Amino acid sequence: MAAVNPVQRRVPLIAGNWKMNLDHLQSIAFVQKLAWTLKDASHDFSAVEVAVFPPFTDLRSVQTLVAADKLPLAFGGQDVSEHESGAYTGEIAAAFLAALECRYVIIGHSERRTLHGETDEQVAGKVAAALAHGVAPIICVGETADDLEKHGASAVPVAQLRTALSRVDSAADIVVAYEPVWAIGSGQAATPEQAEQVAAALRGVVAEVLGEEVAAKTRILYGGSVKSGNIAGFMREPNVDGALVGGASLDVAEFAAIVRYQKHVGL
Ligand code: PEP
Repeated sequence: MAAVNPVQRRVPLIAGNWKMNLDHLQSIAFVQKLAWTLKDASHDFSAVEVAVFPPFTDLRSVQTLVAADKLPLAFGGQDVSEHESGAYTGEIAAAFLAALECRYVIIGHSERRTLHGETDEQVAGKVAAALAHGVAPIICVGETADDLEKHGASAVPVAQLRTALSRVDSAADIVVAYEPVWAIGSGQAATPEQAEQVAAALRGVVAEVLGEEVAAKTRILYGGSVKSGNIAGFMREPNVDGALVGGASLDVAEFAAIVRYQKHVGL
């Protein structure tokens, strides 16, 4: 099996967003079990990259475990401040995530946008802050059910991504996650065709803003009710390079089965 899709030349990424679940002790048990499960199954981490996104209070524990046991797992924060440092009570600086060896940070998740009123401009500031510290942003975009009805699937995510990239320079290491809000936690995933259509439009935005070369290497994930039973359909699409998984990432066996999609679908 090829380590990288020969057409796409992008290593798929399966990312688990734990949201506000699992404390630091539970995170250690979970990451150990995940690593053992994947190792037992001879998972090739160079063929499909795996990342987990625990709560901030777990990150030091996860970092220590990953470093001590040399686990081939990436990890990152679920959010980051757009500010460098200072009087921003409750916020976490990109420099702090970098110091904990976070490879990625999720930015602009729909729960941040809807529950915390995060704007596209703030998302752009957070993306710039992460990149300034060498942490790759996973930029989340997606339309609500209302947006879908009024504007179609692509319009809102395309506009969100254009603003999110407005402060990025041309050599950026970014990941984009297309997460239709109506599909998150609803059990009603988009169809692979819907995901592909929007992912292609988002790749077009990356090309327009950052150039074809960056667009060709940028991974675009689908997120929204991904399970082991539907991941294969998404991964067959040429512009979908992985998944951002919420609920199903909290079950080791289920998450490992999503990571190992190539085995059970023959891709
Ligand atoms: C998410 O919150 O990013 C997500 C995709 O959640 P779920 O997989 O539970 O729909």
